[in-house]
Amino acid sequence: MMNFELTEEQQSVKKLVRKFADKEIIPFMQEWDRNHHFETGVLNKLAELQLMGVCIPEEYGGGGMDYNALAIVCDELERGDTAYRTAVSVHTGLNSMTLLQWGTEEQKLKYLVPQARGEQIGAFGLTEPNAGSDVAAMKTTAKRDGDYYILNGSKTWISLCDVADNFIVFAKTDHDLAHRGITAFIVERTFEGFESRALKGKLGIRGGNTGELFFTDVKVPVSNRLGEEGEGFKIAMAALDNGRFTVAAGACGLIEASLEASLKYCHERKTFGKEIGKHQLVQQMIAKMSANLEISRLLVYKAGWLKNQGLRNTQETSLAKWISCNAAFEAANDAVQIHGAYGYSDEYPVERFLRNSKAPVIYEGTREIHTIMQAEYALGYRQDKPLRKMLPAWPFDPVSVL
Ligand SMILES: Cc1cc2nc3c(=O)[nH]c(=O)nc-3n(C[C@H](O)[C@H](O)[C@H](O)COP(=O)(O)OP(=O)(O)OC[C@H]3O[C@@H](n4cnc5c(N)ncnc54)[C@H](O)[C@@H]3O)c2cc1C
Repeated sequence: MMNFELTEEQQSVKKLVRKFADKEIIPFMQEWDRNHHFETGVLNKLAELQLMGVCIPEEYGGGGMDYNALAIVCDELERGDTAYRTAVSVHTGLNSMTLLQWGTEEQKLKYLVPQARGEQIGAFGLTEPNAGSDVAAMKTTAKRDGDYYILNGSKTWISLCDVADNFIVFAKTDHDLAHRGITAFIVERTFEGFESRALKGKLGIRGGNTGELFFTDVKVPVSNRLGEEGEGFKIAMAALDNGRFTVAAGACGLIEASLEASLKYCHERKTFGKEIGKHQLVQQMIAKMSANLEISRLLVYKAGWLKNQGLRNTQETSLAKWISCNAAFEAANDAVQIHGAYGYSDEYPVERFLRNSKAPVIYEGTREIHTIMQAEYALGYRQDKPLRKMLPAWPFDPVSVL
């Protein structure tokens, strides 16, 4: 039987995060965005509410809820601001869930437990100056030296670069092998030879922390290798299945925020003797936002349902990410249009929504990459098989994760 209702637990998470965003994020965002300020205190408060690892099993310090609870957290956080949803996407979606899926028991106890509790923050270093969509073009190297790998190179556009304690970093262990030459590592900020530097002048997510990582002869213990040598590309793509899910869910929150602001303004603003909401061309924009919100959420919850079953969901997650991020960009753009000149000022939040909505159309697979993926699935050029290690199905079986 199909069920489109949120469970009681999911409903209370939704209420909790909505209240949190209304109280702890929205009142400060104009100032934080203007000053390019990322408030780490927000992450501490999210940790107190057990929201930094909501879908990580309780055995590993998490909330033990299902994967759609994570979607709800991201959806409601992005209603507050994209910066804090991005933080959860990177910390939980790209890092902690990757540790859950691929980590050894030792790695889970050392890194996943404090991250799921929000005592430590995780991030994800894949992109390089000359390797974004084309991941295999990466230049960062990891050379085995006894019980260590020596990392050299750099990463760019890394969210939480100055904030995170631990990074999942991808490097080439074999340069001649393109995708199969990539290996994943857990790198601590405290490792000698590691440095980070924030980027300035971003179009949006100005209240977020994004920047570069530098590795100069960084000694990474062999015990910090995630998965096998040469398995890094697969691990990165599996991580993106989870990251993209959170980005898609966040986009729903941005559509909702754009719709909320637009509805309010439609009732306030009058032209030609009537509320602007009575003009059909304005109604067209409202109808599109409203429909896209529903479509996007359905796609996200379907991908979450597949995760809960422990099934491969690359196709469905890509579809959800592609559709909802495009829809969020369009919704934010229309919200500015509905607000007229006032939408062009940061006195109203919609211009921030528009600037913030652009990055998710670029990161975690650009619009073009997802278009290609969907075409390839339709044409039968791309088929997915179960991975060597799948994300655990929900409800979590304590035996299967220990
Ligand atoms: C705010 C922000 C935060 C980010 N956070 C992280 C992070 O935490 N960790 C991380 O690793 N990365 C992060 N990124 C990087 C992001 O994932 C990359 O920017 C993204 O993968 C695209 O890579 P690129 O910028 O190098 O663009 P490119 O790959 O150079 O693409 C340039 C253009 O060419 C198009 N294109 C490329 N290949 C094809 C093709 N085969 N067919 C058709 N068109 C193509 C693209 O769609 C795009 O329009 C972040 C980016 C931003 C903006």
